[in-house]
Amino acid sequence: MATMSSSTRRAAAEGDAQPPRYAYHYCNVRPGLPRAAGPEVFGERASAINSLRDKWLNGTELAYYFYDQPSDGQTVMLADGSSRFVSWAGAAEQKQAVRKAFDAWAKLGLGLRFREVPTREQATVRIGFMAGDGSWSYVGRALLDIAADERTMNIGWDVTQDLDTAIHEIGHTLGFNHEHQNPFSGIVWDEEKVYAALAAPPNNWSRQKTHFNILRKLDDTTVEGTTWDPESVMHYPFGPGLILQPEKFRAEPLQPPGGLSAHDIAQVRKIYPGQPPVNELGELVLAESRRLQIAAGQQIDLRLKPQRTRNYQLATFGEADTLLALFEEVGGDLKFRAGDDDSGEDRNAQLKLRLQRGRTYVLRARLYYAAAAAETAVMWW
Ligand SMILES: [Zn+2]
Repeated sequence: MATMSSSTRRAAAEGDAQPPRYAYHYCNVRPGLPRAAGPEVFGERASAINSLRDKWLNGTELAYYFYDQPSDGQTVMLADGSSRFVSWAGAAEQKQAVRKAFDAWAKLGLGLRFREVPTREQATVRIGFMAGDGSWSYVGRALLDIAADERTMNIGWDVTQDLDTAIHEIGHTLGFNHEHQNPFSGIVWDEEKVYAALAAPPNNWSRQKTHFNILRKLDDTTVEGTTWDPESVMHYPFGPGLILQPEKFRAEPLQPPGGLSAHDIAQVRKIYPGQPPVNELGELVLAESRRLQIAAGQQIDLRLKPQRTRNYQLATFGEADTLLALFEEVGGDLKFRAGDDDSGEDRNAQLKLRLQRGRTYVLRARLYYAAAAAETAVMWW
């Protein structure tokens, strides 16, 4: 019988004190917008609203910023009672990896555009690299509710060798949820094994975090279609032993191949298709109502050319759930001026603002749902 030296014994004892390490380090997503609710929001209408609510209007430019000031960061309490300041600033190569991840989405030819900006005030997407805080992002338009000095995304580990984590976090920023939480996946978890695996390093998750990020099925009104895509970049990999159903993943790992899947690409192109130039858009004539001849889930862009500088109103009419946004064309870019979302509410979207003579504006309307689509119209006056 072999005996252990005292140092080996000590190492073994210390090893025993450590929880077993789990093979994967996972994203810990932040929430999207609350679901539309209320007695009049159910069935088809709830699905139409909730499956799109987190998504940006197509044509949106998402400006992103990397925290870079010495004061950017936060003080964390350590287990021994001391505290330490941890920076949000990232190393040059980490920022470069995130830029590359934005490019992976941009090169699909989407209607969304991404632009790095030098200050947080100009940015919708604000990215930190705080070590020990995990990797996460808020989901889609929920970013708009985050205060300007707060992160909307954190990259908590080296992504130069793990670009998929950066692509995945940007996927959340674009409004996509975890694919392994798709209610149509048919996944049945060995729940206690999942809790135990995620309680171990490197994740060290509470049961609540594990439930929120893995075990909780998404509300089926938030999911478009019924397809489950285990190859999605929004799907975590799982080692054997955590999944009871589908049967094949009991013994073999569920390992997405990496990068954007064919289904990811089809989905994002469907939601954010490439856009025509402003001068090719139809014009919305002053004080003439125009029917929104688009299907639920679609959007329309219309050009406005005010002949006088004054206050105007823009609104939808009819029983419909719409998101309206008005942009001004400035040097080929569309600058956001005002927006209103009436989805799930018993009212119409409406904007009031001053428009300048001689300038070109674009009114963008997304129809979530209309009880009778042909009876929904938009007008400015
Ligand atoms: Zn995630």
